[in-house]
Order: sequence, then structure tokens, then C-alpha cells
Amino acid sequence: MTSRLDDSAMAAAANRPSATHLTRAAACTRDLLAHWRAAAGGRCIVCRGWCQGGVCPPCGARFAPACELCDGCGLPLLATLAASGDTRCVRCRLAPPPWSRVVAGVAYGYPWDRALADFKFHQRLEPASALLRPLLSRLADVRGADLRVVAVPLSRERLRERGYNQSWELARRLARALSLGARADALFRVRDTGHQLGLHRAARGANLQGAFVVTPRHAAWVRGARIALVDDVLTTGATAHAATRTLRAAGAREVQVWVVARTPPA
Ligand SMILES: [Zn+2]
Ligand SMILES: [Zn+2]
Repeated sequence: MTSRLDDSAMAAAANRPSATHLTRAAACTRDLLAHWRAAAGGRCIVCRGWCQGGVCPPCGARFAPACELCDGCGLPLLATLAASGDTRCVRCRLAPPPWSRVVAGVAYGYPWDRALADFKFHQRLEPASALLRPLLSRLADVRGADLRVVAVPLSRERLRERGYNQSWELARRLARALSLGARADALFRVRDTGHQLGLHRAARGANLQGAFVVTPRHAAWVRGARIALVDDVLTTGATAHAATRTLRAAGAREVQVWVVARTPPA
């Protein structure tokens, strides 16, 4: 009798969908809904007018102006430098960052800050196409290039708490739009480093020391590759620095940093 009960309990357990299946199914449903909404058109995230792609052309022109940015730090480049063909500000020329270039879609601020917060903390993934549009227009030169896309990972605890990694949600959409390969778990965050904002530059670097590793499973995929590291916002650059160093130490030939928004200098 007991063994029959055990058998039926085991059979029930075997038929029960695993947590991985459920997560995957939830992600598929989210994607499908986002796809339907996009196909049906939607509202501009700024003026709420009906449009395709999440931002209407007048709001796009106003809040995502096509100005030249420094490819070292992602901040606006002086018009005189841009006019003479320079791609880097003086600071980045004197102290070059470890990445080959930064590509930033917009300056962090209204209305992108609200859409990014919804995207990051409230599981509202619909603004993704609006958030990615300015970045994609700056990435037209890499469509189909030999670049591999990696997202800045969350720690295991943070991922469990939030249920998804917003950087990976952005990274996989970018990879799909640009026909590039991507891996969700090529980089692993060993520990949660907390908020960096209250720390001084040296303390930030120390806090992030050893925070990332390239997973052994993807070591060969990273070695010798050109990598595009995706994050939602670039603020101090400490996280991107640490992740870039880890990727370079694992043999990546080049690392580019792609972000939806760059925080303007204080
Ligand atoms: Zn609008
Ligand atoms: Zn710069």
C-alpha cells in the first residue's frame, strides 16, 4: 500500500512542470504579448499618442537627439572635436578605458528614467522597443558583424528576487535585431556588490574586484571573440570596467559596451 502511494507520488512529481519550464513558459508568454502589442501598434511612452515602436517621431527627435558622443565614455563630444573627426574626449584620450568603445542610446533622464525603472523593477517589459530604438540607430554599423552579445549579469540572489535580468532582456532583443549571437550565462556574477553610488572611485573598484567570472562552459565562446557587453545604464562605469577586465582576461579580443542610457555628469 505504502509503495503504491510512493509510486503515485513519484508519478505526480514526474508530471509536474519544473521551475525552469515554468520560467521559460512565462518568458515565452511575455514575448508573445509584447509581440502582439508591437504588431497592433501602441502608445508613445512620452506623449501617449498612438505610434509604432513605443516612441513617436516628434518625441524621439526631442528626447533622443542624434548628437555625437565620445566613444570612450559615452558623454556628448564637444562640437569642435566632432567637427574635426575626433571620436574621443580629451579625458578618454589621456586615460583610455579598457573597452574599445561605448555606444549609448540616450542621456539618462526624463522620459527614459521612468521607462527604465518600469522595465527594471516592475516587470513591465513593453517599453523595451522604445528603450532600444535610439541605441539600435547608433548600432547600424554592426548588423551581422562578428560580435557576440553578453549581458551584465545579476547575482543569483538578485535574479531570484527579481525573476529576470533586465540587461539580458535588452541584450537578447539587441542580438535578435542585429543578427548577432548571444549567451545569457557567459558571464557570472559571483556576488552581489550592492550599490556603487555611495562609494569613492577606489572603493568601487575594490568592491567589484573578482565580482565576475566567465563560466567555464562558455570560455571557448569568449576566447578570441569580439564581445558586446550590454547594460541598461552606464553611470560610474565601475561595473562595466570590472566586467570588461574579466572578459579580456578570459581572452576576448575586444569588448564594446552598449547601454540604453548614459548618466550625464553631475
Ligand atoms: Zn510621443
Ligand atoms: Zn570620453
